[in-house]
Amino acid sequence: MTKSLAIVVPVFNEGSAIVDNVRAIMAAARRIPDSTVSMLLVDDGSTDGSTETLRRLCGAGEGFHLLRLTRNFGKEAAITAGLRAAGGFDAAIVMDADLQHPPELLAEMVRRWREGYDVVEACKASRGPESRLRGRLVRAYVAAFRVLTGMDIRNQSDFKLLDRRVVAAYGRLPERERFFRGLVNWMDFSTARLTFDVPATGKRGSSWSSLRLLRYAVTSMVAFTSFPLHLITVLGVVTLAVSVVFGGIALMDKICGRAIDGFTTVILLLLFIGSTLMISLGFIGIYISRIYNEVKRRPAYIIDGERSIMPETARE
Ligand code: UDP
Ligand code: MG
Repeated sequence: MTKSLAIVVPVFNEGSAIVDNVRAIMAAARRIPDSTVSMLLVDDGSTDGSTETLRRLCGAGEGFHLLRLTRNFGKEAAITAGLRAAGGFDAAIVMDADLQHPPELLAEMVRRWREGYDVVEACKASRGPESRLRGRLVRAYVAAFRVLTGMDIRNQSDFKLLDRRVVAAYGRLPERERFFRGLVNWMDFSTARLTFDVPATGKRGSSWSSLRLLRYAVTSMVAFTSFPLHLITVLGVVTLAVSVVFGGIALMDKICGRAIDGFTTVILLLLFIGSTLMISLGFIGIYISRIYNEVKRRPAYIIDGERSIMPETARE
């Protein structure tokens, strides 16, 4: 039976290569048997003229559709906007615009989905070009994420096929700040995994600055674990135990008239406790800001001009 597929591609300042890239994706997608394919390009507030290029492409009626966000809301928001717009399709596939997610995999992903899996994930067999430091940090983060949240996001990417049930469930999740990989994992629909090598097409490497990546890392971690908050309590208990011991000793010394000249100890303790308190407050602050952001209930993105897209089969 013919199935309708939506390919959701977030686009942010991809330059002139974007047209060739999405055409290459589309060409591969059209070779998938028994399916009609539409591509939804979510322009995440590009400022480099990509918007005009995309508008021209989408006007040509080759199955490309444009969803433009009013400004740069970030990849996560773009993915959410795209998936919410693609609810009418039998399945949606999320992939990058820079061909780092190989289009040749599409047919296999769809085949696995047709076997009955709700989610088909493409995992990275290798990570492509990136600095050694960044690679190390990412690995350390993934390991910490696994220990703290019990979720294994090793080698995961945002290249995923989602059945319409999953797309609907994802759209219904109320939270504003999202971590696509983690949430798909958390929803725990039946999942098939494929692997791919990240090709070295990266025209300019990643568009994520280190600071942005760090913020993303913190948001994702905070979204899935409140361990840092509990850690503060544990730290408090440990500090209390230590203070009881030292307090006892100090008191004994005082009583026996042996009170020593402990200036250095006092300074060290002060510094230690002071910095522990500051860090603890910082942890609490991160969670409070997160709560504040969610409580504001501001949408995660604003669409520039409302539009919905439907599978071609549904329109006929
Ligand atoms: N992207 C986006 N909004 C952003 C940053 C990136 O929509 O603020 C898109 C970008 O156009 C690309 C995908 O997200 O399609 C992945 O971005 P990039 O290749 O820069 O990151 P990588 O995952 O390769 O490090
Ligand atoms: Mg990339």
